[in-house]
Amino acid sequence: MQHRQLFLSYMAQTTDFPLLIDIERAEGVYLYGPDGKRYLDLISGIGVSNVGHRHPKVLAAIQGQLDKYLHTMVYGEYVQSPQTLLAQALVETLPAPLDNVYLMNSGSEAVEGALKLAKRYTNRRELISCVDAYHGSSQGALSVGGNERFKRAYRPLLPGVRHIVYGAYSHLERITTDTAAVIIETVQGEAGVRVACSQYFQALRRRCDETGTLLILDEIQAGFGRTGSFWAFEDFGIVPDILVCAKGMGGGMPIAAFISSKEKMKVFANNPILGHITTFGGHPVSAAASLATLKLIREGGLVDAVHRKARRFHELLKHPLIKGIRNKGLLMAVQFESFAILKPIIDLAIAKGVITDWFLFCDDAMRIAPPLTISEEEIAEACSILLEAINESPA
Ligand code: PMP
Repeated sequence: MQHRQLFLSYMAQTTDFPLLIDIERAEGVYLYGPDGKRYLDLISGIGVSNVGHRHPKVLAAIQGQLDKYLHTMVYGEYVQSPQTLLAQALVETLPAPLDNVYLMNSGSEAVEGALKLAKRYTNRRELISCVDAYHGSSQGALSVGGNERFKRAYRPLLPGVRHIVYGAYSHLERITTDTAAVIIETVQGEAGVRVACSQYFQALRRRCDETGTLLILDEIQAGFGRTGSFWAFEDFGIVPDILVCAKGMGGGMPIAAFISSKEKMKVFANNPILGHITTFGGHPVSAAASLATLKLIREGGLVDAVHRKARRFHELLKHPLIKGIRNKGLLMAVQFESFAILKPIIDLAIAKGVITDWFLFCDDAMRIAPPLTISEEEIAEACSILLEAINESPA
């Protein structure tokens, strides 16, 4: 209780409804409160803990790096093996020409880098993004965000940003030879898990090729195995010009990247205009954790099991108050009629030891994005508690 008071007194609040769960430790899919109360984590710290909390191999990689060095120099000056090995391993997961990695600290920052690269490479100024997109909270990332309510108070933002509707073919004509880049989430996360089909992404790719526009895919939430392939775009038969990743990438440590081709990235090295720079981007401890995470996801059979596990949620979560489930792999949204119905269900579920929440731009859908390591038994446990919460809710 004391910590909760300190939290409310001293920490700036960013939401009307903080979940206010007091956490003392975490292990696998579980979080534990100071009173020993156990919570099954169905949201993974918002799509971060794909390999579970404190995976032993991630901890070992962190420890190994702690024994060597922490920060030595700003990104890209000294040769630091955790960064070089991670960059190589990332490139090995990707098709040509994605062969050059710029490491950052957070998703928003990586989006900023990707947008700057697109402007610099194309020498164009217009950016196109989707209605209801979320790309981050910094001003460039907010500018390409697709929710006016979140942006209004911060205008003027970046000029030259236009929006298209995710999945709408007719809007692709708005991409022209003035457009530097289209930035798009492979799966729209904060819009409540919206998945466009591969034909749409192929048409988008064609339009970008016709107009010389760069295609930036934001896989900050969808990447690193979450959707049932290592990268969500693998299913769509396209290759982006720039790929952005973060969240699950660090196995619980902060790290992000934008990845493109050497040919494009080299515009950043053309002096005298400073390309892009970061003090902590690709921190060696985070990079070591990320390499261990990448190997776990690639080699541990986690990705193969994602669709089977998602099917279990579909089979078990049946109730008249549930209006449908949208998902790509273990990025899932369980739709309810309204926030007024959903909120008491979430509160009850948390009281019963299952953590879930809603989406930034879709507050009538419940977020389900558990660690990919979740077992069949844990899925059954989570679903039975969720159904109990739904049954006991006032709705
Ligand atoms: N893009 C997407 C698709 C995201 O889901 C998020 C985070 N929710 C971001 C960008 C921003 O990442 P960060 O919070 O690490 O800045």
